[in-house]
Amino acid sequence: MRPLTIIGNWKMNGGLASNQQLLEKLLSEGVTTFETICHRLPIRVGVCVPYLYLAQAQSLLGSTKLALGAQDVSDHPNGAYTGDVSATMLQEFACQYVIVGHSERRQYHQESDALVARKAKATLQAKMTPIICVGETEAEYDAGKTLSVVRRQLQAVIDLLQGQIASCIIAYEPVWAIGTGKVPTPQGAQDVHRELRLQLATFDAEAASKVAILYGGSLKADNAKDLLAMPDIDGGLVGGASLDAQEFLAICQAGI
Ligand code: PEP
Repeated sequence: MRPLTIIGNWKMNGGLASNQQLLEKLLSEGVTTFETICHRLPIRVGVCVPYLYLAQAQSLLGSTKLALGAQDVSDHPNGAYTGDVSATMLQEFACQYVIVGHSERRQYHQESDALVARKAKATLQAKMTPIICVGETEAEYDAGKTLSVVRRQLQAVIDLLQGQIASCIIAYEPVWAIGTGKVPTPQGAQDVHRELRLQLATFDAEAASKVAILYGGSLKADNAKDLLAMPDIDGGLVGGASLDAQEFLAICQAGI
């Protein structure tokens, strides 16, 4: 059975005071949620915070059930890469997850499929789990290119990681759904997730059955239940709604 995985992506939001409030709320109000869910099915819940707040989040989260993650990583181990952060640095702050290939990185920082795959590899080498994002733009969706785009993005990762793909998480995030309030129908999202799993299976059937494929894009408490009920949707990557403790916890609850 694949665990339900709900990961918050704070993006470039937060501040010392508001982070503390949010994390304390998640921990105090989330205790019952996490305990209830954990009794019923395996669950992984985490928050991916801006680099600067990793130390703060690490000290507030300690050894709780709420895991910590980052939103990007360098593909290089160290060296003259001003402004970048390596995977071993993230590991020192107890990160368990690293988002790679988010569409905002692909769009605003021109990250290629090959670079995203190298970032996933660097993350795995430092013993963390990459959350590899794939997804089509609105123009690609309108042109009926969804499957060819996500397959191309996933294939670059499979080609580089080979057997290590079993240790990754994939997130299907249609770019047109991110921050827009638009969501695909649950069946529409399921169809893409199914195709991604079939593509993984052509490489390694056992890995394909184990890899969690998350949905991301305007996931909210009121649409999460139907999306998370789909057989190949194993959880969510939650942007805006992860900044609100009640909403984020309600999404976790919706996945039960
Ligand atoms: C995201 O940034 O990964 C995301 C899914 O954003 P939102 O939930 O705000 O659409």
